[in-house]
Amino acid sequence: MFPGSFDPFTNGHADIVERSLEIFDRIIVGVLHNPSKNNLFSQVERVALITKLFAKYGGRVSVVSFSGLLVEFVASTKSRVVIRGLRAISDYDYEAQMALVNRRLAPKIETLFLTAREENSYISSTVVKQVAMLGGDVSDMVPPMIARALERKYRDSRKPR
Ligand code: ADP
Repeated sequence: MFPGSFDPFTNGHADIVERSLEIFDRIIVGVLHNPSKNNLFSQVERVALITKLFAKYGGRVSVVSFSGLLVEFVASTKSRVVIRGLRAISDYDYEAQMALVNRRLAPKIETLFLTAREENSYISSTVVKQVAMLGGDVSDMVPPMIARALERKYRDSRKPR
């Protein structure tokens, strides 16, 4: 289970999924539905984009939306391993805390951390949105399909009045 907000899905996220496929037979990408978060892409859009990105893997990658407690969602699937990506030491504090809380809630569910590739370690969904909003090139940071979706989102807001 690779859970996240994925608003939007970046090359960093794609790398974690692809490397996880070398370890596990099947990966579930869990797309967090958090109505209180002001997301750029709707839940439906995020699920549809990620589903298209991994269609080439057939049934090995499934994309599912979830809300509420992660461990409850994981338990409702056949998965017992939560995969998270670590970019920098600064990610570690929060991630370790979440992993410890999740272990307390559900001792049988393990959290597995994969370190980000060096070239992806500066990429975050937030940075991607900031660059794209200002009309910058994000083609090194996200898959082409996501770059096009970002372009469509921001095109109208950049039109001069
Ligand atoms: P969340 O809101 O749950 O942190 P994100 O979509 O921001 O959701 O991230 C999902 C997961 O992907 C997290 O484990 C995060 O650390 C990891 N991640 C984010 N960006 C990268 C990257 N560039 N390289 C590797 N892992 C990443």
